[in-house]
Amino acid sequence: MSEHVETHNFETETRKILDLVVKSLYSDRAVFLRELISNASDALDRARYSSLQREDLRQSEGELRIELLVDEEARTLTVRDNGIGMTREQAIQHLGTIAHSGTRAFLQAAEEGSDLEGLIGQFGVGFYAAFMVSERIVVETLSAEPDAEPVRWETSCDDSYSVAPGSRETRGTDVVLYLGEAEDEFLQDWRIKELVQRYSDFVSFPVMQGEDQLNRGKALWTSTPADVSDEDYDDFYRHVSGDWAGPLTRVHFSSDAPMQFHALLFVPATRPMDMDYPDGRMGVRLYSRRVMILEEARDLLPRYLRFLRGVVESDDLDLNVSRELLQQTPQAAGLRKQVVKRVLRKLDELARTEPETYTKLWEAFGSALKEGVHEDAANREALAKLLRYPTTTGDERRSLQQVVDAMPEDQDTIWYLTGLELDRMRKSPLLERFRKRGWEVVLMDDPVDEWVVMHLQEFAGKKLESAARGEVDEPEQEEDPIALAAREQAKPLIDHLAQLLDGEVKAVRVSGRLTDSPSVLVDDESGLGSNLERILRSANREVPASQRVLEINAEHPIVKNLARMYDQGRTAMVEPLAWLLLDHARLAEGEIKDPAAMVGRLQKVMLQATLPTHVELGLPVEPAAAAPLVETPVVETPVVETPVVVTPVVETPVVETPVVEVPVVETPAVEEPVGEA
Ligand code: ADP
Ligand code: MG
Repeated sequence: MSEHVETHNFETETRKILDLVVKSLYSDRAVFLRELISNASDALDRARYSSLQREDLRQSEGELRIELLVDEEARTLTVRDNGIGMTREQAIQHLGTIAHSGTRAFLQAAEEGSDLEGLIGQFGVGFYAAFMVSERIVVETLSAEPDAEPVRWETSCDDSYSVAPGSRETRGTDVVLYLGEAEDEFLQDWRIKELVQRYSDFVSFPVMQGEDQLNRGKALWTSTPADVSDEDYDDFYRHVSGDWAGPLTRVHFSSDAPMQFHALLFVPATRPMDMDYPDGRMGVRLYSRRVMILEEARDLLPRYLRFLRGVVESDDLDLNVSRELLQQTPQAAGLRKQVVKRVLRKLDELARTEPETYTKLWEAFGSALKEGVHEDAANREALAKLLRYPTTTGDERRSLQQVVDAMPEDQDTIWYLTGLELDRMRKSPLLERFRKRGWEVVLMDDPVDEWVVMHLQEFAGKKLESAARGEVDEPEQEEDPIALAAREQAKPLIDHLAQLLDGEVKAVRVSGRLTDSPSVLVDDESGLGSNLERILRSANREVPASQRVLEINAEHPIVKNLARMYDQGRTAMVEPLAWLLLDHARLAEGEIKDPAAMVGRLQKVMLQATLPTHVELGLPVEPAAAAPLVETPVVETPVVETPVVVTPVVETPVVETPVVEVPVVETPAVEEPVGEA
């Protein structure tokens, strides 16, 4: 064995995070002990499980345990375990770098000045917490791998660390902290005892100080909920999640049949940064007969519950179940089914008993739960109950049940509108008639909602329909003679518009949706729908653009005037105005295809409106523009009868921002656009 000492530099990112931790968490530095005990406990868990799988591994000396040793003279505190240990490569990899998928996101957020303490909490810096109290750290370790050699890893808590042959003779790890000058408290027996009892009481291996066991070592998840204090729960959460902030809420339940299991699951208070990374942390710890089988049981819970942290233990599971097999064994499938059902029921309960907590949960994890609606057909109904949306009624998010409860009895449809910007959706002309009738429309502004409505066709016996799609019947109008006359009068114009705009829209028809606006674009009954198309395109998917239908408000004064002009054969302005009706509808959606062409049309119409002055000034007038001035008896047109106030062309900020970009949105894990779950 060579006595060779190798020096390495910490990676820049690791170094930066170390600095941030030491600076910003110093007042909480006592948590270092919890982190080291937690790592020791993980190492023991791994050792216990591995030795069930393999016989060739080095065995432990005596009972699996964690020891805390103080040397007042040398001013050291040692955390010792007889767990799985580390090989040389593992020590370099695990102690020299922060292998965390959220590292970059974390540093970026830190640079942007976000709240560090909260961030570090989410991040779980683990081992590095020891840098806050130490001048020097020495790790002596021997891996359980039969051919591994002892390693000594050391750092003076600066930019570098060294690796050299070590001195441990039995498997396991010693983490020796050479405490800083101001850290005397961690040499005191009483202080150590207090910290262990506060933070590590539930660690399932004995934590020894000399002859004394400091922790109770109870598997918290097997306890009766009434016997567990909130502090114990919260500390346990920190232990399993690495999240220093407390949880938002928890669910704790047990079952004996059809399968025996205990589950203690927590909802974090904030969205973990790596939640949507493919390699992000996911899954809960899976135990059987007190042995941790998997640290991240990715397949135990469905993906849409990936934010849950905690422990599931079932003695009915085979100890040999591996990551790959977990998906296949019937016991695991049964366990998953039961746990999911119970979790969803608990969430529904939470929504009723603690609406404020549920609101926070929804804000952080609602979009994940929505994924469940399309992924998990078996639980779709339970998931649909958990949905919360803004609606056209009030400012609070509402459940679909609330929407149904507020409906007139004979209404058989839950109306919704999908889009990407809530503000714009609230102002959409598509909702005018719904508003007038007092019909609530559910506003869905998350891309994943498109997948929700694709799979959720019904709720509580009411079908879900898009307010932006197909024709909306307008029975009141059928009975109203003035409306009927206007529709009749608009017919020739509408046919003409259809010809003029052929190629731009699929059809032009009279609208049953509008009250204040002259025109609006709607999605055709077939096809994906414009919002979904936009989402797919921003995810770089190729989607054929489906044509839309232009709906015209036959009762709108502009349309009435135009119909009359067309009827009287005064067609000079009909064409630019026809196009402007389309421009107007596009603008209301925030998208204009050809701003230059629209500007040309606008100028024509503006010239028209200012023509009297133009003539007064003695300027030459184009015959086409001049004609309607002479002919059109503006004041006598039906405008006067209808009290309509809106002049959208003027209100929209055409000049400043003619092109409104489509916001690039995060799409949900995109599957087949129209495929079935
Ligand atoms: P985490 O525990 O979240 O993985 P840490 O920074 O606490 O992050 O630890 C980093 C890694 O170092 C651990 O995942 C483990 O692989 C290794 N490690 C730390 N302490 C020990 C120990 N006592 N025994 C074996 N491995 C350890
Ligand atoms: Mg750790």
